[in-house]
Amino acid sequence: MRPPATPVRPAGAILTIDLAALRANYRLLRERLGGAECGAVVKANAYGLGVEHVAPALRREGCRTFFVAHLSEGVRLREVLGPDPTIYVLNGLHPGAEAECAELGLLPVLNSDRQVAAWRHLASTLGRCLPAALQVDSGMARLGMSRPEIEALSRDPSLLDGIEVRLAMSHLARADEPGEPANAAQLKAFEALSALLPKARRALANSSGIFLGGSYHFDLARPGAALYGINPQPGRDNPMRPVVRIQARVIQTRIVEPGEGIGYGHRMVAPHRMKAATISLGYADGWHRCADSAAWFDSVRLPFAGRVSMDSIVLDASAAPHLEAGDLVEMIGGDQSLDDVARQAGTIGYEVLTSLGTRFQRIFLDD
Ligand SMILES: *Cc1c(COP(=O)(O)O)cnc(C)c1O
Repeated sequence: MRPPATPVRPAGAILTIDLAALRANYRLLRERLGGAECGAVVKANAYGLGVEHVAPALRREGCRTFFVAHLSEGVRLREVLGPDPTIYVLNGLHPGAEAECAELGLLPVLNSDRQVAAWRHLASTLGRCLPAALQVDSGMARLGMSRPEIEALSRDPSLLDGIEVRLAMSHLARADEPGEPANAAQLKAFEALSALLPKARRALANSSGIFLGGSYHFDLARPGAALYGINPQPGRDNPMRPVVRIQARVIQTRIVEPGEGIGYGHRMVAPHRMKAATISLGYADGWHRCADSAAWFDSVRLPFAGRVSMDSIVLDASAAPHLEAGDLVEMIGGDQSLDDVARQAGTIGYEVLTSLGTRFQRIFLDD
């Protein structure tokens, strides 16, 4: 990553988002997809990174189809991107939200026969055809229509009157486990169920699904995580470029004598004379309390000594004699990846990103 063009204002912690890396990740996924279209999932404020920067960057790369989870996210994204791109709302239609959805040209992912009926009803009221996606549950039991619901639609096509089915989609439960037979089973179920629906484009793969091979690509893919640098193939080399860097500022350093307790609960009692450094980052910034991790300074590892508190963490900085107040240490970056931090916290990169708080100074890089 290039250094930021704007001077760094003193802030507790800095979150740098590399939009050039994001765009390179989009291109890499598009290449892997061969002929299929590469959409982008930008739900949850683009996985916490800032949809008003992320979505236009992807748009410039040629992305035409976006996915959000909530109608409110679709409303925001429409403001950001204007009228052209296709925006699907994954969590479907809430009762009463149909008119706003249609007015803004947002396409609901219809997940149940009730949602289909509500959309059909609105189409008939408006006297025009309304586009939508239909989601089928191919074996995750989360969202999407069941086999009996699909069969009912297939027996009585008038249930879809006024609905233009643009996309038939489903979601994989175990795409990040390539050897898992559940993937092939879902693929088969999706092919069978989508064949019962009106002819439409089809979409199955999330980030990891793209790496399961061409038979999972269909017409359109829905990557999220991999765009943001999360490894779509856990346990193997990450083909994606890192997008996120987090640095925290040292607020204070001190010498701790042997036997002195450090941090809440005296998590550590100094076994010998130590240098401690307190940094300005804590669980209120989304750094999970259970993420017992380390910071890095000049590629030297500085393990956490105290517990993660709300606004600060005490590091064992004995290995960095020159570290002083005002310096920045790296929390996510070249020496410690997003996925490393997630593993240390017993979670996944998705949760680390979407937890990041509002106090960071956010810097967006691009070339
Ligand atoms: C969140 C989501 C995605 C994106 O998944 P990633 O693993 O982040 O690529 C794709 N499809 C659906 C239905 C989702 O809910």
